[in-house]
Amino acid sequence: MKLIHSLNKEEITEVLKQFGAPAFRTKQIWNWLYVNKVTNWDDMANLPAKLRTQLSSEYSISPASVDEAGNESGTLKFLLNFDDGEQVEIVLIPARKRYTVCVSSQAGCKYKCAFCASGQAGFSRNLEAGEIIAQYLQAASMADAPVTHVVFMGIGEPFDNYDNVMKAIRILNDKDGLNIGARRITISTCGLIKGIEKLAKENLQVELSLSLHAPNQRIREYLMPVASKESIADLLVACREYFAETKRIITLEYTLIKGLNDSEHNAHQLLKLIRHKPFRVNLIPLSPVAEFQGERPEKETMLEFMDILTNAGVNVTLRDSRGSQIKAACGQLRYSNKDK
Ligand code: SAH
Repeated sequence: MKLIHSLNKEEITEVLKQFGAPAFRTKQIWNWLYVNKVTNWDDMANLPAKLRTQLSSEYSISPASVDEAGNESGTLKFLLNFDDGEQVEIVLIPARKRYTVCVSSQAGCKYKCAFCASGQAGFSRNLEAGEIIAQYLQAASMADAPVTHVVFMGIGEPFDNYDNVMKAIRILNDKDGLNIGARRITISTCGLIKGIEKLAKENLQVELSLSLHAPNQRIREYLMPVASKESIADLLVACREYFAETKRIITLEYTLIKGLNDSEHNAHQLLKLIRHKPFRVNLIPLSPVAEFQGERPEKETMLEFMDILTNAGVNVTLRDSRGSQIKAACGQLRYSNKDK
């Protein structure tokens, strides 16, 4: 069955037309889906019964079943099981009186970064827009405060599923529905230049994060196979063009790994790469992943690394990545398929 949440308003109007129903029903359906967040066609009280039957015979309104997968002082991990056996992990992260949801964009990941759990079991398929929206709606139904922020930092590479991710973002952003401000939505990419170039032209004020993780090409290639295709030099050019087009600063994500990319020398190398360019830096302490031997640096080392950047005038933060006990921290989400 097709997912109703994969359809934008124009597409819903088109479906209504095929069913012989008037276009004004689109607004009513949208309101049920995204303001009332109903999970049952029969709850759409102002729709004629016949239309509800027509819609329910072709469109599913709840694409997945959910399993709780852990709770660590309020950070909640859950799994969505899609009808074809694919599973993705999602994390609901509390902030003061609100939540951020970390969503997955693909079942699996092709990019196989050495230190990330998400690509270990390979890649299966892209998620549909509706399967991304389902993650948000599921999170919202479990949260005891509004889920105001969405980060595409779960399983998968959002720019490798560009169209569906963009469609989901426009649905999340829609003023008549979930109404999540574009600036509260973050796309994180391993560095696909085509994606950066396309996003620059979307006229959407979303946040862009780039997983750099290395101060030079050699270390980046060691950690991230994608680096041999998309060089740091080319990435920096794409980022500068992105900034010229959007006037939006890009966040560089840099996972600190003991003895690998965390020295003072590395900090100065990074500084040289990014000085006078439109970046802020988010340092991430390495989260443990069984398949990767690296370790998290001492706190002292991380603070020294941070100071070097700060003293040079770079806006730097050290991410407080929560939920490592329940394997919900950055890079720990794992793809699996329950039928395999
Ligand atoms: N594919 C996208 C989305 C994943 S976002 C991307 O690469 O950006 C998840 C973030 O966590 C990325 O910055 C990723 O590189 C980082 N990450 C992966 N494994 C990690 C680990 N073991 N510890 C800390 N961060 C990790």
